[in-house]
Amino acid sequence: MGLNNPVPASLGLQALFGGTFDPIHYGHLRPVEMLAKTTGLAQVILLPNHVPPHRPQPEASAQQRVAMVELAIQNNPLFSLDTRELARETPSYTLDTLRELRHQLGHQQPLAFIIGQDSLLSINTWYQWEELLQNCHLLVCARPGYATRFAQPEMQQWLETHQTRDPAQLSVQPHGLIFLADTPLINISATEIRNRLHAGDSCADLLPPAVLRYIRQHSLYQD
Ligand code: ATP
Repeated sequence: MGLNNPVPASLGLQALFGGTFDPIHYGHLRPVEMLAKTTGLAQVILLPNHVPPHRPQPEASAQQRVAMVELAIQNNPLFSLDTRELARETPSYTLDTLRELRHQLGHQQPLAFIIGQDSLLSINTWYQWEELLQNCHLLVCARPGYATRFAQPEMQQWLETHQTRDPAQLSVQPHGLIFLADTPLINISATEIRNRLHAGDSCADLLPPAVLRYIRQHSLYQD
């Protein structure tokens, strides 16, 4: 997909998956592939984030992060790419992107946003986080090393209020549910990959070979 990012209207459940993807790795891809099987997700749209200037910057450029995502999802029809957040001059909040998509898709289309368990635990730091569920479901992938409950009782209460254990509901309601998916625990982070590459260690089993080739060709994450 190009910068116009047309989102196909469809009746099936669609999901967005945002991330820095510096670089994209199997800890992103494998849990989401399993999640798609469990929930009947027809389409996962990868959404590389624009990182605002006051935050620690990704090592790869936006264009390189996009190129790595493209290589990772080539020949995998489950995934597509949406570069709208990178095309904006200003940092974009997930909520703004979701609202924009809602506008495109209409109010009946089931739409989800995928996050890892670590992101769920800090979701109350996101811009207007309480509005997220008015626009999408949250599909949460398990991630090793993170608590499975909120430490704050009010956040645990929020989770339990919105949680569904029935994935079929995600295609019935257009938004408003949280599904904690029993996805495989994959102990990979982009930080670990960058550190290993800087140290000259192998990353062969951590990310798709085409992405690793790109990293080598462009001398990314060296020294
Ligand atoms: P970094 O190490 O640079 O912080 P990361 O590996 O956590 O990066 P991000 O691009 O920041 O990757 O993550 C995008 C999304 O993917 C987040 O919602 C995060 O929770 C989720 N995610 C990343 N790695 C995993 C993993 N191994 N298992 C489950 N979810 C993951």
